[in-house]
Amino acid sequence: MPHLTQIPVQDAIRIVAKEAPTPTLEALELNRALGRTLATDIASLADHPTVDNSALDGYACRVVDTEAATDERPVRLAVIGEVPAGTPFSGTIGPGQAVGIYTGGAVPAGATGIVPVEVTSEQDGVVSVSRPATASAIRLRAQDLKRGSVYLEAGRRLSVADLALAAGMGQDRVSVGRRPRLAVLSTGDEVVPPGRSLKRGQVYDSNTTAIGLLAQVAGADVVLLPHVGDDIEVLGEAIDSAGEIDLLVTSGGVSMGRYDIVRDLLFERGVVLFWKVAMRPGGPVLFGRWRDLPVLGLPGNPVSTMVVFLTLGRAFVQAALGSSEPLPYDSRILATAEEPLSAAGFKETFHRVILESREGRHLVRGTGNQNSGILRSMVEANGLAVLPPHARIEAGEQVEVIPLEPYLG
Ligand code: AMP
Ligand code: MG
Repeated sequence: MPHLTQIPVQDAIRIVAKEAPTPTLEALELNRALGRTLATDIASLADHPTVDNSALDGYACRVVDTEAATDERPVRLAVIGEVPAGTPFSGTIGPGQAVGIYTGGAVPAGATGIVPVEVTSEQDGVVSVSRPATASAIRLRAQDLKRGSVYLEAGRRLSVADLALAAGMGQDRVSVGRRPRLAVLSTGDEVVPPGRSLKRGQVYDSNTTAIGLLAQVAGADVVLLPHVGDDIEVLGEAIDSAGEIDLLVTSGGVSMGRYDIVRDLLFERGVVLFWKVAMRPGGPVLFGRWRDLPVLGLPGNPVSTMVVFLTLGRAFVQAALGSSEPLPYDSRILATAEEPLSAAGFKETFHRVILESREGRHLVRGTGNQNSGILRSMVEANGLAVLPPHARIEAGEQVEVIPLEPYLG
């Protein structure tokens, strides 16, 4: 089958996401589910609150009885009981009567309002009230949550507030998508793990760290495989011994060179779904299968590696998780360019930018040298301006920007 080439980023995203396995589910206790992707809608098991209750400590009574109450002419009511939270009052409040009530206490029958304790004084079974009771101090039954209604929908990435809400709905567990297992393998004769000494012409491996952590932030379980040199046989064996994984992400070896062995392995012995995407950085990216295993071959330049993982690698992970969150590629804000920004010809261009908010406006400027080997620029940048093919954005014009902060941890 002929492979696709120079396809638009959007098409590449679709192809990659289609190769992701369908999510399998696991049930987790709430305190273990932070950051996980919800697999089922969650409905409340109860109303919240379950009864009309008091928002403050004070006295429940009839509003009409207290309308004239002032500091000078307090109204006196007979206290006929009290309602702590959790223990409802069985009687009914009649004219001239009140019941002591505490925050969360069920409002007794007959009461239409609450007077805060601060404007009362009680003696010998009689309370003097110097302000009118208010109905607004009553929290109505089910004003927050209605039994049977869905408040959290499948596909959400669960936050602390989401999980607190799940608990408030009476759920002790949530069903989430299992994390896809992703292996990272860097290639290249010149690439050396950090911590060793470096000879002239060699380069420290920053991509294994970048890919592994970007994948982790995206929600994958990550296995770091040992580095392989530019040897196609060793590469094949390394992939075969990777164990049970859903996706292999490689770094390096997918361009036009003689030693680009990831390309050779997949073209000669595997399946190539696409090679080259009309994007910069990251153009030479390759996606295919080795036996049944999806393989995303990222170019070795460190910025290409990160940008392509964010655009394509994350699409695989999010699909495998059953996530409904927008992909980084679709999460853009509009900003004003402070300087001209140009696309690289027919390629959709991800320009590293510094995004700032000044006087309520988003402004962007480039990080300088856009060479894909400038690793430092990914620390300086907090956004990627997305420049459509052939675009030239003049200073003062609007440009779409992907804020990077959510994806870099
Ligand atoms: P390649 O994609 O193999 O042609 O490599 C492109 C460039 O990225 C070369 O300058 C490599 O030395 C560099 N490179 C390859 N792999 C890594 C890596 N794991 N970490 C940092 N730089 C790399
Ligand atoms: Mg290489």
